[in-house]
Amino acid sequence: MKINIHRGANEIGGTCIQLSTGQSTILLDLGLPLSKDSKELDVAALTPDAVLISHPHQDHFGLIEALDHDIPVYMGELSKNLINATRMLLGNGLLKNEIRHFNTWQTFAIGDFIITPYLVDHSAVDAYAFLIEAEGKRVFYSGDFRAHGRKSVLFDTIIKNPPKDIDILFMEGTMIQRCNNDYPTETDVEKKIYETINEQENITFLISSSQNIDRIVSAFRACKHAGKTLVLDIYTAWVLEQLKLVSKNIPAMEWNQIKIKFSYGQHEKLKDNPDFFGDFRKRVYQHRITKEELHANPAKYLFFSKMSHFKSINLYKKIKPVTVIYSQWLGYLSCMDSDYYGAEAIFDYQNDPQVNFVYAHTSGHATVEDLKKFAEALNPKMLVPVHTECGNQYDNLFQQVVIFDDGVEFIL
Ligand SMILES: [Zn+2]
Repeated sequence: MKINIHRGANEIGGTCIQLSTGQSTILLDLGLPLSKDSKELDVAALTPDAVLISHPHQDHFGLIEALDHDIPVYMGELSKNLINATRMLLGNGLLKNEIRHFNTWQTFAIGDFIITPYLVDHSAVDAYAFLIEAEGKRVFYSGDFRAHGRKSVLFDTIIKNPPKDIDILFMEGTMIQRCNNDYPTETDVEKKIYETINEQENITFLISSSQNIDRIVSAFRACKHAGKTLVLDIYTAWVLEQLKLVSKNIPAMEWNQIKIKFSYGQHEKLKDNPDFFGDFRKRVYQHRITKEELHANPAKYLFFSKMSHFKSINLYKKIKPVTVIYSQWLGYLSCMDSDYYGAEAIFDYQNDPQVNFVYAHTSGHATVEDLKKFAEALNPKMLVPVHTECGNQYDNLFQQVVIFDDGVEFIL
């Protein structure tokens, strides 16, 4: 088997690993880089038989549009729905790629390759690791994963019954550099949200990702405990709508203590795309909360927001100091460019007397300790760093480390 990491051996995000046999070629992820200094990838020149997408984060799937649209792209069905909903609400239309689905632990073939997807715990839903077998070799790609979220049982399952005889393990190492242990688990985040909103005298904005389901659950549980109402935007309501198919325990817009705040732009997109959104537009309307209701008693609400909601924050802080709980990677605040609309405003809230700025976040990525457990359980012949800026530290932490460089072919 020939292996070529097109990108991702020395950086977080933008991952793309190519595996080839004599007959077939596949790509593992085709992500948009997070760093502006990342080298360009000539996607149009890539002609694999298929692409496997581990999860619906931009730094793993963000370049599939640039690929020849006839090349099949495999991802979880929920991932496709979430990516398409984001696109529809932004007015970008559905994905034009030929999308195919797989199911967790159900083996399938692409040419010579036999692939088994493993559902993993990550800050995105529908996230997978892959076992790939061909020509008598076994490669395992971890994707992005962790062991401290609400689905940590998935990590335990892999550790207890790991795939055997792995020749190469491509393992992410995001947290080797980003070690912040203020909130070791999701429950610690929930507790901080509860303590914060329990005392609030004005509305609180919780800035996070709509696809971080663990965080939505934490926000909801904190609201329930504190007697507050959780306010979501239309996109987040749609994400939860998709998850009904997977679990009945995830908050939904019909639940007490959940309200939906309409934005004119998002609502127009629902109207424009009835085929995609179905009767969701009508149903979501029944659960809306008006500006007047919010203004009448702002201390009753926690608004699950994005950085781009800074204009609303500015309105509320004029009346009384407002709380902003920043609940995602702090690194986004230093990426002050158009990709992170609102980052500059949120950054400035840290020194704004009208804003009580609170940081409460636990990472979507495994801690160093959990990475060690994972590497020991899989016990590969070679462990290759990917999705990390600390490949040079792997040798001190794990066994059998082999460093690959971007663009250098390796024959297994
Ligand atoms: Zn991710």
